[in-house]
Amino acid sequence: MLFTDPDETVLREEIRELKRTRKAVILAHLYQRPSVHYVADFTGDSLELSRRAVEAKADVIVFCGVRFMAETASILNSDKIVLLPEPSAGCDMAAMATAEQVRRKRAELPEDTAVVSYVNSTAEVKAESDICCTSANAVKVVQSLSQEHVLFVPDRNLGSYVAEQTDKDVILWDGHCYVHDPNISADAIRELKRRHPNAAVMIHPECNAAVRRLGDFIGSTSQMLDYASRSSKRAFIVGTEESMLHPLQEQNPHKMFLSSGSVCSSMRVTTLGSVRCALDRMVNVVSVPADIRERAAGAVSAMMAV
Ligand code: SF4
Repeated sequence: MLFTDPDETVLREEIRELKRTRKAVILAHLYQRPSVHYVADFTGDSLELSRRAVEAKADVIVFCGVRFMAETASILNSDKIVLLPEPSAGCDMAAMATAEQVRRKRAELPEDTAVVSYVNSTAEVKAESDICCTSANAVKVVQSLSQEHVLFVPDRNLGSYVAEQTDKDVILWDGHCYVHDPNISADAIRELKRRHPNAAVMIHPECNAAVRRLGDFIGSTSQMLDYASRSSKRAFIVGTEESMLHPLQEQNPHKMFLSSGSVCSSMRVTTLGSVRCALDRMVNVVSVPADIRERAAGAVSAMMAV
């Protein structure tokens, strides 16, 4: 069910009170609506939020993001209740790989092949993996492996970026995030560059190679925040989901950020109304079956140790 926010001030107050009574913490991905960021205890990318989930001293974690993120929080916190305010918030890319498909593919490959799953995957796929990674640490994770062959699931673009940056034999899965490929195109970035020739171009590695080649900087959302803050440039073309303009602008009020306007519909379904409803009724609990959780936790913990 989708909610509209009739009165943000009232909703914020109600959420603050519910957070206190439920002993809850709210984690929000950087692609969430600005109104959701305002009630969050922590905002960040997948890696930062995974860390926050581990450190959270709370009985309840409200995860404002998509299902695979809430599953990861649940995998890391079997003793806590994890709520996903909008149960329809899935990820199209995560749905492009199933555990059965990964098992079958692995059986075709040399025995010493490591399976690396991007955290943007289901808990079942993580359970089939040797290690997970995020867009912030994918290169480091793959470099850390002793195996020469790596099956990289499910994002072909992040996988090809890793292949460019390492000497590993990276076997690509044919998955992609429509927000970054094809919805962020090389033509759109070139047009922004033409109109703003002095702007620095920041590109997310989920974009395809033609788009990445136009980037002055390639990195995850948290790395973009860091780059924009440190850079002496005054204007930036942002090659990722449009909501990133908000945290970038907040942290850098005197700089200008431009986007080609690509939006993740799943990230937009969560509203203050759905956060309040989930906390009030304690509904939309995300839990991962114990056998899958234990195996997936091994892959996530291996990533955290890198
Ligand atoms: S932006 Fe792409 S990878 Fe992220 S949740 Fe949306 S569809 Fe999935």
